[in-house]
Order: sequence, then C-alpha cells, then structure tokens
Amino acid sequence: MRQLTISLGPERAGEVVSFITGTPPSTAVRVNPFKTEDFPAQFASGTETYSRWGRLLPERPEFSLDPLFHAGAYYVQDASSMYLESILPEMRRMRSASPEGAFAVLDLCAAPGGKSTHLLSMLREIPGSFLVSNEVIRQRASVLCGNISRWGAVNVAVTNNDPADFQQLGKYFDVIVVDAPCSGEGMFRKDPEAVAQWSEDNVRLCAARQRRILADIMPCLRPGGLLVYSTCTFNPAEDEDNTRWLAASYGLEVADMRHFYPGDPMAGEGFYMSVLRFPGDGGKSSEIRKREKLKTGQYMPFKEKVPWVDDGTALYRRGDRLKAFPADAAAQMQALETVRGLRVLMSGTAVAEVIGGRGAGSGVKPVLLPQYSLIQSAVYRRGSLPEVEVSLETALAYLRRDSIRLSGVPSGYVTLTYGGIPFGLVKNLGVRCNSLLPPSMRLRTV
Ligand code: SAM
Repeated sequence: MRQLTISLGPERAGEVVSFITGTPPSTAVRVNPFKTEDFPAQFASGTETYSRWGRLLPERPEFSLDPLFHAGAYYVQDASSMYLESILPEMRRMRSASPEGAFAVLDLCAAPGGKSTHLLSMLREIPGSFLVSNEVIRQRASVLCGNISRWGAVNVAVTNNDPADFQQLGKYFDVIVVDAPCSGEGMFRKDPEAVAQWSEDNVRLCAARQRRILADIMPCLRPGGLLVYSTCTFNPAEDEDNTRWLAASYGLEVADMRHFYPGDPMAGEGFYMSVLRFPGDGGKSSEIRKREKLKTGQYMPFKEKVPWVDDGTALYRRGDRLKAFPADAAAQMQALETVRGLRVLMSGTAVAEVIGGRGAGSGVKPVLLPQYSLIQSAVYRRGSLPEVEVSLETALAYLRRDSIRLSGVPSGYVTLTYGGIPFGLVKNLGVRCNSLLPPSMRLRTV
C-alpha cells in the first residue's frame, strides 16, 4: 500500500490495492491469426479485450500441458498490454501515405515477445512491412527467438543489441516500440518479489534508464514516424513525466497517453502506453535511398521448386540453409545482417537444410531436408507432407522428446497436428520416429 500511495496518491492507491488484494491475478490470451481465426474451445467463456484476437479468461488453465500453446496457436499476455493494437489504424494510414520501400518496425525491448507477436499479427495488414525484434540480454533473446519462430511470420528478424547499436542505421524505422524495463508496479499482484524490490530510489533509477534508452533510439526514427513508449508501472516519473520529456526534447507530438489500472474494464494487471508522432514527412524518400544503400548479404535466390512452401514465397539459400523471406522486404532484411555490430540471431524462416547442388551448371540437384521451423511457419504448404492428428498423450510425449510410434502412417517426414494445427515434425522410421523438435524447445515441466 505504501509503495502505491507514493506513486498514485491515497485515493487511486486505495482502489488499486483493494482490487488486487481481493481478486486473483488476471489471465488473458491472444490467438495467432497466422494459425487460426477461431478461439480454441477452451477459451469460449473468455471476454473481450482491447485486441480483436484477445480473450480475458475466467481462470488460468495449465498452458504448458496444452499442445496448442506449444504450436503457437496463442500467446499468454496481460490484457492491458493488448491496447497496443490501437496503433494499427495509424500504421495503415502511414503506409498508404507512403507506400514506397519497406515499412520497418522496431520492437526495442522485446523479450519474451508479447508485443512482437502482437505487432506481427498487425503487420499482416501492412504491405511490405517487417519487424526487427530486439532484446539486449542474450538469454532472454533466445527465449524471444523461440516465441517468434512459434508465431510463424517470415517478415521478422531477431537481434541482440544495445539500443545505441542501431544508430548507424540512421533514421531507419517507421515505427519504434519501447516497452521499457521498469519498476513493475503492475506486477504487484502476480509477483510478491516486485513489491519487495520496489523503492523510491529504484523508481528514479528506472526513470533515468528509460530516458537513456529513449535518447539512444530516437536518432533511428524517421520523420513522420511513430514512437510507442510503454511500461507496466503506474508512477508518473516513469510514465507521463518521461513521455513529456521525450516530446519536449525531440519535438514529438503526443497522440495518445493512457494508464490502465487493475480493475479497469478489459484491463489486466496494469499498463501505461503513450504514442508520439515525429512531425514531418519530407524525409521519407531520402531515407529510403539511404536504406537501399545498405549492402545486401550473401543470400542467393533459390529457383528450384520446393513443394513444402506456398507459391509466391521468396526463397534464398545461404550456405546449407534455405530460408523464406517476404518478397517485398527480403532485401532490407538481408542487408541488416551485413551491418557491422548488429547481432542478428534469426531472420526470415529456415525452411530446409540444403545438401549439394552448389554452383551454376553443376547439374547436381540439391537435396532438401525439411526443418522444424517450416511446420511452424505461415508459408508451410499444408498437406505437402503427410499429416497425422495425434492424441493429447502422444502430443505431450513428443513435446517432452520421449520416443513415439505412429501406426498406419507412411515412412519419411510426417507433420504432427493437434486440434488441426501443426506442432511437430518427425522422420517416421516405422519402428520408431526421429524427432526434429529442437532440444531447446523440449517441454520440461511434466
Ligand atoms: N516487450 C516485452 C513483451 O511484451 O513481452 C516485455 C519487455 S520487458 C518490460 C523490458 C525488456 O527490456 C526486458 O526484456 C529487458 O531485458 C530489456 N532491457 C533491460 N535493460 C535494457 C536496456 N538498457 N536497453 C534495452 N532493453 C533493456
């Protein structure tokens, strides 16, 4: 109570405290439009959120025991954070006013991937768009990679960089989202540690760090671009004061600024979000020229027909990897990998390993071996590999990397589905199956 009284004043703090002490933490999910347009049956009793893909649930299911969760059919996310979707109409407007070149979005503080997966769902509606999903802490960046590849979009690169590392790109991004590390007052109900660690000193430290992060990334926003600044805390020093400081320091217009407290309709644990517009539009064409000057990487267009990917997918070979990129943003995404100091952990989708067939006129056809990320991807052509719907028990055994046996199924590569959604890839040897699930994605809890 003392912490929230300092941050919010006695009246608002009283309301928030009585709500968070008297009710269990909220739970919400956001379904993945790359995989399903429907809400899985178990979310039927959920209620509306700020996202058309979101549902606030009456109680928390055991997500780790649901194969659909591992298939990336939905993401578990705080309901208040889904307010991010309010920027979609503005992104659409920006895109139609400026349709040339690729539309580049940066999620600067991205792990574990809530905002990034949400942005990817939104960017399906923005032609020529791609997302750079960045996380400065290496271990958290690995978790981010897992969640991003589960989501299935091809127009995304994951980087592991400090905000200042992006400055060499110049005014590169159309939209930048800074979901900053904060004092976490919105975590008080879920995490007693957050209460114990709270102090006025820490609030001051967080506010100063947030300003450093914002100052480091501002040189990368193009004129006419959008900056979203958010936290999961309530105090004005980290929220409104920082938004006003940012607007005043860089000449940005505040287009939206909102607090969500526990107990608000459709809200979860609490969130703060502001949207700022960088005035001007004239810089766009010179910015595009600058972007195009970035050298492209060592990707070779791959012309052979690959039966497992949808028609129209842009495929490129790099070494022994075959990767899918969005045709209208491939060059920009590949160029990022050549920028010195940018650590690109993942870009596009690895669909296959390629063996042999290098060099024009060699006459040798390359051999392709499908990769696990293929069946997670939106470009996977359903039915191009034999598919088998498995029971809950078999699905969990697969996810634990226990050995499984399939009967009445052809030998060779087979996709496993649960609830009709692909979640597994095996090589069926008849007597047993070799799993292509990466060990890092193994289910460890049961
Ligand atoms: N956006 C994420 C989501 O929706 O799932 C949550 C991000 S969390 C609130 C803030 C992230 O900022 C953390 O992953 C943290 O590792 C990262 N971070 C910490 N210090 C940072 C810094 N100095 N610069 C950039 N990011 C930082």
